[in-house]
Amino acid sequence: MLEERLKSVIRDIPDFPQPGIVFKDITPILKDQQLCGEIVDKLIEHLQGVEIDAIAGVESRGFLFGMLLANRLNVPFIPVRKQGKLPFKTISESYKLEYGQATIEVHEDAFAPGSKILVHDDLLATGGTVVATSKLLEKLGADIVGYAFIISLDFLQSEGRLTRFSDRVISLVR
Ligand code: AMP
Repeated sequence: MLEERLKSVIRDIPDFPQPGIVFKDITPILKDQQLCGEIVDKLIEHLQGVEIDAIAGVESRGFLFGMLLANRLNVPFIPVRKQGKLPFKTISESYKLEYGQATIEVHEDAFAPGSKILVHDDLLATGGTVVATSKLLEKLGADIVGYAFIISLDFLQSEGRLTRFSDRVISLVR
């Protein structure tokens, strides 16, 4: 089963980047291109019948599989980046972190209003990042059609935060 294989490859790094956090390191997955392909296959299987105009991926690990997925679906990829990284005109959204705050940005011409957008990140923890991403994309008129993650930290029970945007939350490892 893909979930079991992913669990055996994803590496737990205790106390990174700070004490008390168990960091899920997906870099071992990237060594295995066959496995990377199977991840995209599985996400596409879950997305059968869903109309998608574009994939939005969150910097930086959301770029890895977000771009692969967009390429396979033959739809545009929209990079959502940390403040100050995108060169053209941007709009932004700030959100609270445990300590301090973060701002993410997207190019204002990234997609047409009304576009059906699937949001992708490698991992769902508190949901703060993808909630902010969804608000950011909605400012430009996005219709959020769902979320696709490699990993969901289910014990944080964050999926409920996403239902105001979409009920479709796909995750390969829980
Ligand atoms: P959150 O906004 O709390 O849902 O956090 C999600 C973002 O932080 C994603 O971009 C993840 O890559 C990263 N992240 C949060 N917690 C972890 C973790 N335990 N292991 C790896 N990445 C994490």
